[in-house]
Parts: sequence; C-alpha cells; structure tokens
Amino acid sequence: MIIVLKAGATGGEITQVEEKIKAHGLTVHISRGVERTIIGAIGDERKLQLEAFEGMACVEKVVRILKPYKIVSRDFQKEDTVITVLGQKIGGDTVALFAGPCSVEGREMMLGIGGQVASSGASFLRGGAFKPRTSPYAFQGLGEEGLRYLAEAREETGLPVATELMDPRDIDVVVKYADVIQIGARNMQNFRLLTEVGRLDKPVILKRGLSATIMEWLMSAEYIAAEGNRQIILCERGVRTFESATRNTFDVSAIPVVKELSHLPVIADPSHATGKMTLVEPLAAAAIAAGADGVMVEVHHDPESALSDGPQSLRPEAFREMTVRLRKIADAVGKRLGRV
Ligand code: PEP
Ligand code: MN
Repeated sequence: MIIVLKAGATGGEITQVEEKIKAHGLTVHISRGVERTIIGAIGDERKLQLEAFEGMACVEKVVRILKPYKIVSRDFQKEDTVITVLGQKIGGDTVALFAGPCSVEGREMMLGIGGQVASSGASFLRGGAFKPRTSPYAFQGLGEEGLRYLAEAREETGLPVATELMDPRDIDVVVKYADVIQIGARNMQNFRLLTEVGRLDKPVILKRGLSATIMEWLMSAEYIAAEGNRQIILCERGVRTFESATRNTFDVSAIPVVKELSHLPVIADPSHATGKMTLVEPLAAAAIAAGADGVMVEVHHDPESALSDGPQSLRPEAFREMTVRLRKIADAVGKRLGRV
C-alpha cells in the first residue's frame, strides 16, 4: 500500500502513519520528496484498512497494490480450477450445461424435464426447492419434497443436481440431496451463508448479486474460499441497469474480466439475465464465445403455466434445438458442450 501525504505534513504526522502501519506487523518505507512524503507499507497490506489511513488529516491518497481478494485470484493460482461432480466437469475444455426448471413443481414434472434435458446433452440438472421470490405470496418452492424429486431425477439420469440454498437453517437438508449448492443473486453478500458453505465439501455456484461489481463478487467468493472450500463456480446472471427492455442487463464482459482476475470457472445464466425465452440462445452463444465455462438455462414443459419464471423458460424441444447450435459455438472456441 502506498500512502501519499499532503504537502506540509509534519514529522509528528509522518510518525503517526508509520506507527499505524507497524502496529499491523508491516514494515515502512519512507520516501521524502521536495514537496511530498510518500510512505510505502511493505508486507501483507490486506491487514490494513484503506479507510483507516484515508481518514487521517495528513493523508492525501492511499493506493492499494494488492487485490483485496487472495485465494480466488489468478495471482494465487495460475491454472484454471476444474471441478468434477459425478464425472461431469466445469472448467477446462468443457462447457457445462445446467438445465432444468426454475422451480421443482412436482415429481412427474421434474423427472420429465430432467429426462428430456439429459437426452439433449445437459451435464447438470437444476431446479429450485427453496425459491427467493420477490412477493411473499408467490410460490415459495416445495422445500424438502422438491429436493427429493431432484434426487430422484439424479438417480434416473445419472446427472448431478444443483439447487439453491437460501438460509443457513436449511443447510443440512440441502446438503443431503444436492450435488452442487447454488447461492442466489439476492444472497451474494449474505456473509453468514457464504461462511457456512465455505465449510462444506461441495461445489458452490455463486451468482453475481443484482447490482454487484466484479470486485464485490470476487470478495464474496473469497469468503467461501477463506473457509476452505475452493470448489466455487461464478455465475454471471445479469445486473440491474437503467435498461428495462430486458429483466437484467447481461454483462458479457464480466466473463473474460473474471477469467483474467480469477482461476475459478465462470458460467452464465442467460435466462435470468434476459427474462425472455427468445433472448436465451443469443446470449448463451455470446457467453460461450466469450469464454464461459458453462451455461445455465431454465427449461419448462409448459412455460405458460410455470409457477415461476415461465416467460424465460425454454420448452424441452427448443432447448434441444438450441444445444445443436451452441455445440458449434463451443467447437469454434475449442471446447465441448455438455455431458462428458
Ligand atoms: C434461480 O436460478 O432460480 C434464481 C433465482 O436466480 P438468481 O439468484 O440469479 O435470480
Ligand atoms: Mn428462475
């Protein structure tokens, strides 16, 4: 960290800054210019709080040298993290294909859609049993019953299942059935929840928050990694902007940006990013072309009667047709789409 002092900073003030740095176990390098003094803090600057120096009357500006996240950064690990769940890969030369309904609505429904997306080459099944709904009066999910149907769909298809965990109180029941735990956009900064999943030995999909910066998103991933769980999959699902033509604004640039900054796999969710079934395929294609390690798509046998997110859900036949075209995009970037 570099601390630039205001012109005219006194010897006493310089000592104050110096003492503050040393108190955190770092060493100090002082460079006295004609007009300004610049103080370098040498050591692990993550131990220092930027604000603690910015708030000092003698300080003009503070510049961080290191990124505030560590374990999830590309500097910490050069090679891409590749996660394997029941033989299915996320990362490396595979484009994982997560597909399934927004909510698990029933047994027949989950088994039906599960079988159909599996036969189209999906590599993971998705389905929500605990749903984060804006309205308390909307369908909240089937809870454990829904998780049981998901597990049945896994038995039938052999595919791993991903489902959302909203509350630390549900952790045991979700862990019992799920192969991959999803932390939804609304909970990206629920730090207690992140800490809890950080203690698990299970892959976690961390969705980008509704209006989270990439830095905040990576800091949330760091919360999970800091507890020991390094099996983290980042998911770009659109962010809120002034644009109202789509449900969210899909930030395709986030994919290559995150891949530069972090070794973690990054997938994209064009369903929640757009809110419209006609826009799912073009954005899935864009995500794969931009280097995404996977896509997550909502599929429903009858979108008009879906209990959640019908307008953005593809019918199983449309999903199948889309995968044929997406496979070509994956090919073009030297990867293979879907089930291994
Ligand atoms: C979901 O995947 O069902 C979901 C609620 O997504 P998000 O958290 O991205 O809104
Ligand atoms: Mn949904």
